Amino acid sequence: MSENPSPVIGIICAIPDEIAQFGSAFKQEKVTSHGGFAFAEGELEGKHCILVEAGMGKVNAAVVATILAQEFACKSLLFSGVAGGLDPALGVGDVIVGKHLIQHDYGIINNGVTESYHPGHLPIFAPSERFGYYLDEGLASRIGTALEGFELPMLSAEAGGGEARTPKLQFGTILTGDQFVNCTATRNRLHNELGGQAVEMEGAAVAQVAERFGIDWIVVRSLSDLAGEESGMDFIKFLHETAAGAAIVLRRLIRVL
Ligand code: SAH
Repeated sequence: MSENPSPVIGIICAIPDEIAQFGSAFKQEKVTSHGGFAFAEGELEGKHCILVEAGMGKVNAAVVATILAQEFACKSLLFSGVAGGLDPALGVGDVIVGKHLIQHDYGIINNGVTESYHPGHLPIFAPSERFGYYLDEGLASRIGTALEGFELPMLSAEAGGGEARTPKLQFGTILTGDQFVNCTATRNRLHNELGGQAVEMEGAAVAQVAERFGIDWIVVRSLSDLAGEESGMDFIKFLHETAAGAAIVLRRLIRVL
């Protein structure tokens, strides 16, 4: 067990390339298994952290988040990974820190039209004014301060859309659903209807669990692709380079916890 008395921070990634970005910065002390997931306990940026690869999708993320809260008494849950970009102003490699997280695939379908709703609610049965999960305001302001003047490493020309460039780093709305979005029509719909900057498959599930346990959550996503027809190819091409950006930002944010 770590001697570090700081509150335990849970760090979740979905896939091996995302978790690998922490590399030797994470000083691993021991690994335990729960529900078939390997929880690596150790130190990152001087804080006591548990690092775990959840696999893709909301249920995997929720199971792991629950174990981190319940078994490891984590006081905050962080997610670091890649996502598809939805906002035309953003490109591959740009990084979003989630200010509003929405489960876009939870809701109602009327005449073939999907309307997203707050998890656990439906207008016909349990209506709610709530929609999605908002980053804690105090945390948002500390994150803003921690990222002031901070610049990510330059992207390669290939990832940067033709020329090497510094990635954008901003707060945004992140949409979560159990689908890999590889479709321009869906990308446009998700951006226009829900105002999302990025789409992924785990973040809002982590936020839901964290809220249940009354603990903090932060989701950081770098864009591996732009969620259109090219997204499968881009994802493969840019996963490694872009996953690094999310991990770099997340390491910087550990200091605000
Ligand atoms: N391209 C592979 C695997 C996709 S992996 C396939 O065809 O099956 C998707 C992972 O990265 C998920 O963990 C998700 O959170 C994130 N992600 C990246 N781009 C995404 C996109 N366009 N839509 C949804 N999730 C995306």
